[in-house]
Amino acid sequence: MLESIINTSLYKNLNLEKNLLHSYLFYSSDAELNNIIALFFAKTLLCNSHTANDNCDACRQFDAKTHPDLTVLKQDSIKVEDVSKIIAKLNTLPISADKKVFVILNADTVNEISQNKLLKSLEEPNSSNIFILTTTKTDKILNTVMSRLNKIFVPSLQLHDKKIIADELKKQNIDISQYVNSNFTLTEMINLVNNSNFQNTITDIFNIFQNLNTTSDIPRVVSSLNLNDKSIFFSHLQDIVLSCIKNDYSKYDKALIDLINAKFPKKALIKSLPFIEDAYKKQMANVNFYYILDNLLFNMLKEKFLCK
Ligand SMILES: [Zn+2]
Repeated sequence: MLESIINTSLYKNLNLEKNLLHSYLFYSSDAELNNIIALFFAKTLLCNSHTANDNCDACRQFDAKTHPDLTVLKQDSIKVEDVSKIIAKLNTLPISADKKVFVILNADTVNEISQNKLLKSLEEPNSSNIFILTTTKTDKILNTVMSRLNKIFVPSLQLHDKKIIADELKKQNIDISQYVNSNFTLTEMINLVNNSNFQNTITDIFNIFQNLNTTSDIPRVVSSLNLNDKSIFFSHLQDIVLSCIKNDYSKYDKALIDLINAKFPKKALIKSLPFIEDAYKKQMANVNFYYILDNLLFNMLKEKFLCK
């Protein structure tokens, strides 16, 4: 969550606290920004002091995604059963807050059948239910639904606001600072950062397999890596090894898949999967990254030699 959004002129100008309404639609071409605003607003509604930055029980539950009065739908394609879950909760009493908050991110991905289901709940406002939707495509939302929503246009970020958000994102290892002077939207900036981290990670994995032949290569191979986003390293490695096992060229470069398949028998790759899974879990538990990687490569080479 981006708590500092409250300090942006954009958020202040939206004046959301002024009088509370039953349903909101935050819309603009910037999906990330819409969603950040929507979630922050939801958090202020549930927060005990309505500030969303007092670290109260409600705030902590919100951050842990365990707040009993919060429902968030955010898949790329929101299914009928997801909307049914909301409908089922509509007539129940709030559990810990004074209201229930339903957030539907990227509401344009809710299909027509589900939108019609949702419409019924929007038509019968209940003061304890608040709906917060976001979209980049207002034309994908049924007119009947649109007419029930209080539409709030999210203006593009000014430099001052971009800097505030950039500082906050940096804490989550997303460094957009090099783009803040550009005209990119927040979504575009985050995608650019993620893409360059992705590319660097793939290059690192390629270099490992190109230079790794025996266990004595491990220290040199590991120390030469770029590793600009360690958090995505093992999940990609796992995905790449699975692609190698299945000869699947759809996600990663053919050169990378062929390189690994040329160096490692399939059987060794299959036997390596539990080690990669273990490495991923250890990293989640904050074990030293280099220690995990050394061990993993050692085990992968061991499996390779056992297959010979
Ligand atoms: Zn709070």
